[in-house]
Amino acid sequence: MADKKSTNMEIKKNNRNRVYRYIRESDVTSNPDISYDLKISLPTVTQNTKELIEKGLVRDAGKLKSTGGKRAAALSAVSDFKLAVGLDITRNHISLVLADLKGTLLKCDRMFLPFEHSEEYYLKLNALLEDFLRENKAERQRILGVGVSIPGIVNLKREEISYSHVLKLEAVPFAYISGFFSYPCYFLNDANAGAYAEGIYQKSIERFFYLSLSSTVGGGIYDESELVQGKEYRCGEVGHMTIMPNGAPCYCGKNGCLDVYCSSARLSEMAGGSLERFFQRLEEGEAEFTEAWDTYTSYLSIALDNIRMVLDCDIVIGGYVGGCIDKHMQDVRQKVAERNIFEKGGAFVKPCVFKFEAAALGAALSVIELYVAQI
Ligand SMILES: [Zn+2]
Repeated sequence: MADKKSTNMEIKKNNRNRVYRYIRESDVTSNPDISYDLKISLPTVTQNTKELIEKGLVRDAGKLKSTGGKRAAALSAVSDFKLAVGLDITRNHISLVLADLKGTLLKCDRMFLPFEHSEEYYLKLNALLEDFLRENKAERQRILGVGVSIPGIVNLKREEISYSHVLKLEAVPFAYISGFFSYPCYFLNDANAGAYAEGIYQKSIERFFYLSLSSTVGGGIYDESELVQGKEYRCGEVGHMTIMPNGAPCYCGKNGCLDVYCSSARLSEMAGGSLERFFQRLEEGEAEFTEAWDTYTSYLSIALDNIRMVLDCDIVIGGYVGGCIDKHMQDVRQKVAERNIFEKGGAFVKPCVFKFEAAALGAALSVIELYVAQI
């Protein structure tokens, strides 16, 4: 009897969740449309939308245009009913984004703030976050929490940042960092956060590898609406796979890592620290830049071919380089095709959709999804 009761409760909750997600994905909709598309009876749908309106998640948006019969009541999601913050921490900068329940990026700010594992740094970070929220009129009660993207191994089981070579961190409990903020914090590896942003609203892709080419190199596997984490939460850490035995030294202590050859810094440092300027000069056909791009894509193609061999799925190029790569995808695909022994061409390599602050956005979206999942 208890089992039957809990099953009924689950069905009820599942229906409400599906109804909410349907409304969230529509500009405006109506009870009959929801009922028809989700194959849930009209009385059940009507009861659910009534509850969602009472909670403040959905609003009555007047009447839909008539399609012949009686005009149905229009419904739409109150997207700013709750908001989430994304915070991306890198060696020298922080990015803050604000996203609503539809996953829309509302505001974004990037600041120079060199990382240090000190009370002073975290207090400063909290002050910047509070300023950011105040400037954007995001009231405290609407904030669900802060998704924190970190360039390092984020172990959800042990609730700690196990390592970050870039930030020089080892075994730092989430609670220590959360303690400086007045909102709940949710931690995520930066490449995983980028992968999450890329995958969460794309129903057409089932599985892909996200290669994050930013000031550090990392990766994440997105599979069926979830991130694949691995036994010790190190899945996808391709930045430190060796692509050049006895190659140039990496900050991790090894030699010849992919990170050494394919971080965005490899390109931006040639153009006074600006990746956009690098690509601009490449497009202007300057020999030095053409040569550097040729070397870069040669190393990149080794990594892409290896990843494809292991996972046999699409690879999305993300991170800072992914944000600028659209016009140059052909160069990359051509180099990959030369290495590929199983298929012609390199169409499985794709540029990312989210060109801007994907890690911070992905961290915010993961907080939104936690909330939406329990509606
Ligand atoms: Zn390394």
